[in-house]
Amino acid sequence: MKEQDSVRSIKGIGEKTEKLLAKLGIFTVGDFLRYYPRDYDEYREPIAVSEAEPGKKAAVFGRITGRVGMSNTGRKTVVTATIKDEKSSLQLIWYNMPFLRNTLQAGGFYIFRGTVVKKGARLIMEHPEIFKREDYEGLLYTLYPIYTLTKGLTNKFMVKTMHQILENREITAEYLPEEYRNHYRLAEYNYALSHIHFPKDKKDLVVGRRRLVFDEFLFFILSVRMMKEKNMESQNTFSIKPVWETEKLIESLPYPLTHAQRRVWNEIETNMTGHTLMSRLVQGDVGSGKTIIAFLSMILAAANGYQAALMVPTEVLARQHYEELCRLVQQQSFPFETVLLTGSQTAKEKRERYEKIAQGKAQLIIGTHALIQEKVIYENLALVITDEQHRFGVNQREDLSKKGVRPHVLVMSATPIPRTLAIILYGDLDISVMDQLPAKRLPIKNCVVDTSYRPTAYRFIEKQVQQGRQVYVICPMVEESEGLEAENVLDYSRKLQEALPGDIRVAYLHGRMKAAEKNEIMEKFADNEIQVLVSTTVIEVGVNVPNATVMMVENAERFGLAQLHQLRGRVGRGEHQSYCIFVQGGKDAETKERLEILVKSNDGFFIAGEDLRLRGPGDLFGIRQSGLLEFRLADIFQDSEILKDASQAAGAILDLDRDLSLPQNERLRSCLLSYARERMEMPGL
Ligand code: ADP
Ligand code: MG
Repeated sequence: MKEQDSVRSIKGIGEKTEKLLAKLGIFTVGDFLRYYPRDYDEYREPIAVSEAEPGKKAAVFGRITGRVGMSNTGRKTVVTATIKDEKSSLQLIWYNMPFLRNTLQAGGFYIFRGTVVKKGARLIMEHPEIFKREDYEGLLYTLYPIYTLTKGLTNKFMVKTMHQILENREITAEYLPEEYRNHYRLAEYNYALSHIHFPKDKKDLVVGRRRLVFDEFLFFILSVRMMKEKNMESQNTFSIKPVWETEKLIESLPYPLTHAQRRVWNEIETNMTGHTLMSRLVQGDVGSGKTIIAFLSMILAAANGYQAALMVPTEVLARQHYEELCRLVQQQSFPFETVLLTGSQTAKEKRERYEKIAQGKAQLIIGTHALIQEKVIYENLALVITDEQHRFGVNQREDLSKKGVRPHVLVMSATPIPRTLAIILYGDLDISVMDQLPAKRLPIKNCVVDTSYRPTAYRFIEKQVQQGRQVYVICPMVEESEGLEAENVLDYSRKLQEALPGDIRVAYLHGRMKAAEKNEIMEKFADNEIQVLVSTTVIEVGVNVPNATVMMVENAERFGLAQLHQLRGRVGRGEHQSYCIFVQGGKDAETKERLEILVKSNDGFFIAGEDLRLRGPGDLFGIRQSGLLEFRLADIFQDSEILKDASQAAGAILDLDRDLSLPQNERLRSCLLSYARERMEMPGL
């Protein structure tokens, strides 16, 4: 098996499975191999019955007391048994597994593994796995991978197929020179790859993961640095002067710019009217007001006779920015034409817009990835802005830059990265920090609750809607998934609609929906035709509906705090008091403490730092700040030490071989190229 082979070449995978795998972004054998577990199930030391705690997964040992019972309730057969010690007892329940009545022996000694639940005063375990003591010993401390699934695929299938691929694949030639591997204590690549899926134990997992994380960072940094090389000598060939239009726009705003906004705008204006080409990152927390800065920069370019393009990661956001910019331009009677370019437009609509762009009739261009398609030819593009850049790969940025005669580049990000790390990750950019929120905002009221609070929350939501407000509810999953107890958007929106009065409209939104559907829903939400939006984190990215005042996050424990903070940024944008309800799936005290940080602080940097401190270096897989930069495994906070190592290694490699043309770097170079290609094809959401 070769990495580039289609998944169809794997034994047992036909058309149907191929389609399901495609939903997960798995098309080739290589994709499958790099589909890393989202978590691991550990076979821990078995405990006594009295040590079992509700809400926790455990292996409990004991002798079956009394007889193994069997009954029929409706269509189900129920097998029950009980294990006891001096202090407590645990009831075991299996549905539709009548054969267990014969295999389980009364008085027999077993280990039962499952999640302990409290029902009334009793502790029960539904569908525990059953082990003989000697069998369990063989499994002790091993880790069993758990993959993110889609309906129709099982974890067992993923595990089996992964084994099959690992056994039959062509070994990848190592591309990191040995001296680097030794110096940075890195495992060999193939070892790391097979052990990230099937680690012998936790230590082994850390070893395998370290190597793969290092690679992710290394490739990212190498591509950033190599791009910087190319940008170094760039002179500003555009003739841009300060204009009165931007001043006029600033004066007409219903609010004064914050000091931070003024300072950053100043930096940008100076840069664009100066001698060198701009490559700048504007880093500012959610709600700090980055959009208006982007618009001002675009107006500056347009008023000087050039085109400016703003690229955003979702159609919803593109449309929103487009409408807002149109409004401002009209209000000021500026003679500029604004166009929107998105993937879901018809061929005819697109053609019309391409023409306007090519002839220079449109000066202000806003869109999604569609902006970087081959067919778009700009007449005189002087500025390219990407909003919420963490959703874009480096190469996409570069591609957009290529569309003009190397335009000025501005990148907007709300990712709260400490400056030292930002310099590594955005080595090719100057950094402007917008470290101030607009005054007069009512602080958001926050609470961390458990699921028993839901009825209260729903009543509160109802009241808010009656007052004319709107609500977001976030669930971690799109649909139900085997072995994963987390709320999903599809079921939840149905349940919530039932729990609320019929005249409140509930709708759902997730990343797997078609762009046109997503737009429709989002537009209806913006127009308050929909009052409650149940969504995955797709709405995390920059959407602005100031009338929304409640953000309720289910299974908040499954998200990184930085990400929760971004979600919270969707409310508190208007004049009304806003609320954030973080619902914790279990009752774990540590989790609660972690989530409480969000109640105490509203500072993205502080929150990210505290999150890291509390979780500690041991928690490698529980939570990732997914959505913050597109890394598969790496977490910029958690893995900041590896990031520094990778940065140092990248420096050393490029010092000796600027363009990776030496023979010893040949493999590294080709891997870097395929990495770049892969990132280009990353789905937008
Ligand atoms: P972000 O930095 O998250 O992209 P936005 O640019 O979307 O933030 O701004 C959030 C909201 O704050 C918008 O409704 C915007 O009109 C408003 N806003 C921006 N700047 C200011 C300011 N200086 N004072 C008051 N409100 C502002
Ligand atoms: Mg924004």
